[in-house]
Amino acid sequence: MSDHHIVFIPADPHYLPAEEQVSRAKETLWQWMPEADSLDAAVSEYVQFHDCGSNFEYVRCHLCGQELTLPQWHLLMDQDYDLVRGFGLMPQTLPCCGSVASVNQLDYSFMQGFSRFSLTAINPRTGAVSPQQAELLGQRLGHRLLVIYRHL
Ligand SMILES: [Zn+2]
Repeated sequence: MSDHHIVFIPADPHYLPAEEQVSRAKETLWQWMPEADSLDAAVSEYVQFHDCGSNFEYVRCHLCGQELTLPQWHLLMDQDYDLVRGFGLMPQTLPCCGSVASVNQLDYSFMQGFSRFSLTAINPRTGAVSPQQAELLGQRLGHRLLVIYRHL
């Protein structure tokens, strides 16, 4: 048994929608994904990492395009993470080209991201969300969204 999640997070990791916005977004999602196991809205106290599970292909520097090795990326993630305050998304020197950037700026394939708010469709039994749908859902939530396809 494998699980598929579609995770919607605000492009701004600190953005939190109002409860009413979340209800409206869930109503819309239920119309698109009536067979989903559940739609879970969550707010964490600190910025969390939302991964794509086994869909992970690579992480690249957004500036020079070079692929980072997993140990290089894990080191950047570890240095950014604090048990007390979660991810700080602090500027760090990248091992590829020496540019300074946060782990939230890197290119992830599949998409992965950082946020306090997330809206997750558990086993939606649908295909990918269209850009138009992502935009509409973003309007419901009051902020542009990133769409993460997590395969477990
Ligand atoms: Zn680079």
